[in-house]
Amino acid sequence: MLPYPDWLNPGDNAWQLVAATLVGLMSIPGIAVLYGGIVQKKWAVNTLLMAFTGFSLVLVVWVLWGFKMGFGQPLKLGPGILRAAVGIPHTILSSNNQQIAYIPLLDGTMASAFAMTEPQVASSDATNVQLSMTRDGNEYVLNGRKWFASNALHKNCKVMIVMGKTDPTAAPHRQQSMMVVPIDAPGVTVMRGLPVFGYQDREGHAEIDFKDVRVPLKDVLKGEGEGFAISQARLGPGRIHHCMRAIGMAERALELMCKRAQSRVTFGKPISENANIQDWIAEARIDIEMIRLLTLKAAYLMDTVGNKAAQTEIAAIKVAAPKVALTIVDRAIQVHGGGGVTDDFPLALAWAHLRTLRLADGPDEVHKRAIARQELRKYRDQPAAVQIAKVS
Ligand SMILES: Cc1cc2nc3c(=O)[nH]c(=O)nc-3n(C[C@H](O)[C@H](O)[C@H](O)COP(=O)(O)OP(=O)(O)OC[C@H]3O[C@@H](n4cnc5c(N)ncnc54)[C@H](O)[C@@H]3O)c2cc1C
Repeated sequence: MLPYPDWLNPGDNAWQLVAATLVGLMSIPGIAVLYGGIVQKKWAVNTLLMAFTGFSLVLVVWVLWGFKMGFGQPLKLGPGILRAAVGIPHTILSSNNQQIAYIPLLDGTMASAFAMTEPQVASSDATNVQLSMTRDGNEYVLNGRKWFASNALHKNCKVMIVMGKTDPTAAPHRQQSMMVVPIDAPGVTVMRGLPVFGYQDREGHAEIDFKDVRVPLKDVLKGEGEGFAISQARLGPGRIHHCMRAIGMAERALELMCKRAQSRVTFGKPISENANIQDWIAEARIDIEMIRLLTLKAAYLMDTVGNKAAQTEIAAIKVAAPKVALTIVDRAIQVHGGGGVTDDFPLALAWAHLRTLRLADGPDEVHKRAIARQELRKYRDQPAAVQIAKVS
């Protein structure tokens, strides 16, 4: 990433925006042509035209760059366009400078956590989230409790994205907002790491208390009331990533199952020669190929028509991949006998992890609900009697 001095930061003040835009306009080609004109004392119209072309070209390039590198944020008209015009600022900043501060997330030197789920309410319905975010002058004051914030115990975890309620009186899907909160902000207490089936899962899932945590307005993501919309948008890529890892675990389990079944002998023949074991192996291969193709289809649609249009496929694979992988790992454990549930093989850990995937990023039932609603919508305006009449 290119270095970007703070004094060029357009921030949210008009004068800073104008100053940064002027600096942006004084770009190298334009300056070079002007310099040439000055040195050679040529003030002909074509020199000025060339200088103007230089300015414009760079402006266009910077605007496009700003669009491309804007981390998917739609450019806001007005100040947003100015930021895009100075290119580098928009490349690395969002509307309130969040991106420049969190660039280390991209190279892994900083970790972050996402805190939405709460112990007190059924959080598979995001509208239930209760953590209060009360406006007080130029800040919000956060009070509430979260749990299962994955990564929050990572040694490099510096920030959390916290979802809470800014306006409990607004429409159900406009009550929530998301804010960036430093993990060491006054009032934030990481209470404990939650084990998963007795395992300490990766960097752990934290329970966190928020007591009068003050968050400046600039650290609200996208805007007040946008929390629910963000939560819908961000989960597509995360979900497909889970599915890819589930497929990897299923492949590894199948490999271990085959090796073990061929190397162990019971009742005078290798375990692999039993029909039920061959059935498990064949089904594992068939099922892995099915979920792989569904994952590919979902990924293709996300790339070509976007997350929203691909929501049925994303939900379908989020249900199917962990379920299929879990069955394969379970059978591989069975083939391994007692060894399968120990730490000598990676199967028990894989099972525990895959089982959590049927809950994390939304339980199966909630994804199935979404798929069913999409299917039902297709026939909403077709009463059953009309369909029967058409069939007969
Ligand atoms: C390993 C792991 C990592 C996680 N990481 C994070 C994280 O980083 N950040 C974060 O905020 N959260 C995280 N979570 C939390 C996770 O997203 C929630 O556990 C999940 O959304 C379910 O919410 P809940 O636990 O409150 O269950 P509840 O909402 O109480 O639901 C309980 C059960 O009710 C059933 N149910 C719910 N709705 C329906 C329905 N419409 N129809 C039928 N049955 C239904 C389901 O079986 C569901 O499992 C993680 C969870 C796990 C296990």
